[in-house]
Amino acid sequence: MALLRIRKFPDDVLKRAARPVENINGDLHLLIESMAQTMYAAPGVGLAAPQVGESRRVIVLDTDHEEPGKHLLKLINPRVVETEGKVTWEEGCLSVVDYSAEVERAAKVLVRAWTPEQKEIEIEAEELLAVALQHEIDHLDGKLFIDRISRIKRELYRRKLKKMIKEGKADERPSTIRI
Ligand SMILES: [Zn+2]
Repeated sequence: MALLRIRKFPDDVLKRAARPVENINGDLHLLIESMAQTMYAAPGVGLAAPQVGESRRVIVLDTDHEEPGKHLLKLINPRVVETEGKVTWEEGCLSVVDYSAEVERAAKVLVRAWTPEQKEIEIEAEELLAVALQHEIDHLDGKLFIDRISRIKRELYRRKLKKMIKEGKADERPSTIRI
C-alpha cells in the first residue's frame, strides 16, 4: 500500500468542506488503510482525508504513543454532538509546515461516527483525543487550526512561510505533536 502525499497549506483542498460518505466500499477501505499508514509514517496522531487530497468525510486517529495501532480510530462522517468545558492546547498540523500555536477548544466531546464495519459508534473523549477529534473534524469543514488563532498571528505565519519557501527552507522539522 502506498503512502499518500500530504497536502500543505495553502493547498485549496484544505479549504473545501468535504462531502459525506454515502457508501462504505472497498475503495473507501483502501483509502482508510493508506491514510493510517501515511499518518504513522509522517508521524502524526491524526489525519483527515482532505489532507491527502480526498474531499471526503473520513478521519483516522491514534493518540496512543505506547502501543501504536492498538487504539487506531477510523471514523466515517464523524460529528461532534456534545461538548463540555474549554481547554487550550498547543497544536501542530501535518498540513501546516513548521508552525504550532495554542488553540482553545472544548475540553470534552462526544463524537458520533460510522466505522468501516458499518457500525454507528459514539466516542467520549477528553485531553489530546478530544483536541485531535475537533482538529480533524475541522479539516472536514475546510478549517485549519491557524483559522482559529488571531489574524495577526496568521499573517505572521504566512510571511514566515513565504520567506521559508523563498529560502528553500520549508522542509519539515518535527516539532509539537502534529494532528
Ligand atoms: Zn491537521
